[in-house]
Amino acid sequence: MPPTKTASKKPQAARTATKAIAKKKPAAKSKRAPQSKLSPATIHDIFRRFHANVPEPKGELEHVNAYTLLVAVVLSAQATDAGVNKATRALFKVADTPAKMVALGEDAVREYVKTIGLYRNKAKNVIALSQTLIAEHGAEVPADRDALVKLPGVGRKTANVVLNMAFGLATMAVDTHVFRVANRTGMGPGRDPEAVEEALLKDVPAEFALHAHHWLILHGRYTCLARKPLCSTCLIADLCTFDEKTVP
Ligand code: SF4
Repeated sequence: MPPTKTASKKPQAARTATKAIAKKKPAAKSKRAPQSKLSPATIHDIFRRFHANVPEPKGELEHVNAYTLLVAVVLSAQATDAGVNKATRALFKVADTPAKMVALGEDAVREYVKTIGLYRNKAKNVIALSQTLIAEHGAEVPADRDALVKLPGVGRKTANVVLNMAFGLATMAVDTHVFRVANRTGMGPGRDPEAVEEALLKDVPAEFALHAHHWLILHGRYTCLARKPLCSTCLIADLCTFDEKTVP
């Protein structure tokens, strides 16, 4: 697994962000928040096993700071982390700040990322979000979801990844893997990513919240595969409620 910035220790920015978020009125609960099919003790057991197996899970997108993490996540939509890393290794050597990226220009950025799907639009967004960071955020990545989702090419999932990995906040970024594992196991059933996010935020034990989305991604990517889940080697098979699991 390539080196990535660890989120286990909160940097200053994280403490400030946590304070700022703590002051905000909590979001109203959606009426559609689904109930977990698993008991709190079972969900605790699942994350206890994930933790015992991989104590410090890391994201697989390579980056050198919060800004390059943000760019990498924007580039990763509908692409593999390995494919993004291949392109960004060279890009981040010449542009690891918003100012350097803007100076590089959209045409050059497009050349660096042309092996990634939807690269034309993504190159455009990378330049536009870099310009916005310079104009509105002092060339820094804001530790604030509302500000992040206003950046070109940045959605809720991207914002949650950045808040978690760069600022150490216990967010739940629901990608295709997290969505599948949460629904199959029964711990976070939901028809759309936001419902799954809400269910998981409600039921994942606080002690595991910081790393929960990484454990679920790793489980979906390497064990609970979309077409043929590897149930016979799954470390939570006895706790999973998926009707089609291939072990008792
Ligand atoms: S038992 Fe199978 S379906 Fe359930 S989490 Fe494990 S791999 Fe996925």
